[in-house]
Amino acid sequence: MPDAALPLSASALPHSLGAALARGARGRCPRCGGAHLFASFVRPVERCGMCGQNWTLHAADDFPAYLAILITGHVMAPVIIALGLRTELSLATMMGLVAAMALVLLVGLLRPAKGAIIAFQWWMGMHGFAPRPGRREAGRP
Ligand SMILES: [Zn+2]
Repeated sequence: MPDAALPLSASALPHSLGAALARGARGRCPRCGGAHLFASFVRPVERCGMCGQNWTLHAADDFPAYLAILITGHVMAPVIIALGLRTELSLATMMGLVAAMALVLLVGLLRPAKGAIIAFQWWMGMHGFAPRPGRREAGRP
């Protein structure tokens, strides 16, 4: 599918990879920042309603879930250790509390992770996204 995004002014485009990632993580269009990136919880819109960027070109696949699990594990490990050392909770209570906290964190991170990964792929010109102006791949005209 061709990438027929509308031309944008330089000020509307993100100035850095970090800015594009932040837009994607907030669920906004990484290219213009003016419209929603997601049509449902983790399904991106086909085209941006403001700039026309085609978001069907992404290939995030399972990476958002992997990233959300990785972050959840690294956040929950010290929490579990602290709960074990500083509280007198029963094993069942602690397991229920930890499972609920991990589930909330994991589900809460899934959409920002997917938005950031889509933004990363767009910024890097991966998977059918056109390379940004001024960035050409080696060997490409
Ligand atoms: Zn847009």
